[in-house]
Amino acid sequence: MTTNDESARTARRGPTGTPGRSERTCAGCGKRAAADELVRVVHDPSSGEVAVDLASSGFGRGAHLHPSPDCVAKALKGGLARVFKSKVALRPAAGGAAPAEGRGGDVAAIGAQIVQAADRRIEGLLTGARRAGQLAVGSDVVAEALKDGRAQLVVVARDAAAAAKVPAIEQAIASGNAVALGNKQRLGSLMRGQGEVAVIAVLHAGVAAAVGQTYRMSGPFRSVAGNAAPPGGAGTESQDVRSEEAWSSSEVR
Ligand SMILES: [Zn+2]
Repeated sequence: MTTNDESARTARRGPTGTPGRSERTCAGCGKRAAADELVRVVHDPSSGEVAVDLASSGFGRGAHLHPSPDCVAKALKGGLARVFKSKVALRPAAGGAAPAEGRGGDVAAIGAQIVQAADRRIEGLLTGARRAGQLAVGSDVVAEALKDGRAQLVVVARDAAAAAKVPAIEQAIASGNAVALGNKQRLGSLMRGQGEVAVIAVLHAGVAAAVGQTYRMSGPFRSVAGNAAPPGGAGTESQDVRSEEAWSSSEVR
């Protein structure tokens, strides 16, 4: 059951026949899924290192994984080695602490890479939207944009306690139409010289969809990033709940 990225060349269309929605095989569970629901990892044959490539822009041979700790764990047990026909090693997380020893540490290391890559991609999408005039910036402007239906998705700084309690924004969070990213200082620097920024609304539907999708992909790893995931332990479901709980608890304060 060798599956690999070369299946890209024979990519099938999705069940609905939607053009461009090609499928790939998860190197963990072996099931097929739409390519944009899977995380791509690339392999450097000289070092044997695999690295997460969320933007699917990286060179080299790639494999695909469901964004779930279970599938990452299975892929590390052999799926990736089969795809790449080589041993795989993990690239040390940039600026991160050394991952814990063993398989759980490896899953956490890939998870941390996915979270980092997702944050970078979301920041890039927001920067592009800012340049295109497709953002509302600041609590009042965002609340207005939510009320008149222009806001497609809300981005809230993790330390934005007050903004998260503005009724319109609170409602966006409660309905899952929001993502948590960075802190007020970081969002401020993305918005260039507006000081601290607590909340941003994306007005462009396509950008909002891309931000939301990127965030969801990293979601299962956000509550475990930096920690060793219990080997074969807690599944995606409980971790999703935990990352959702973050909204109503300590993370948005
Ligand atoms: Zn899978």
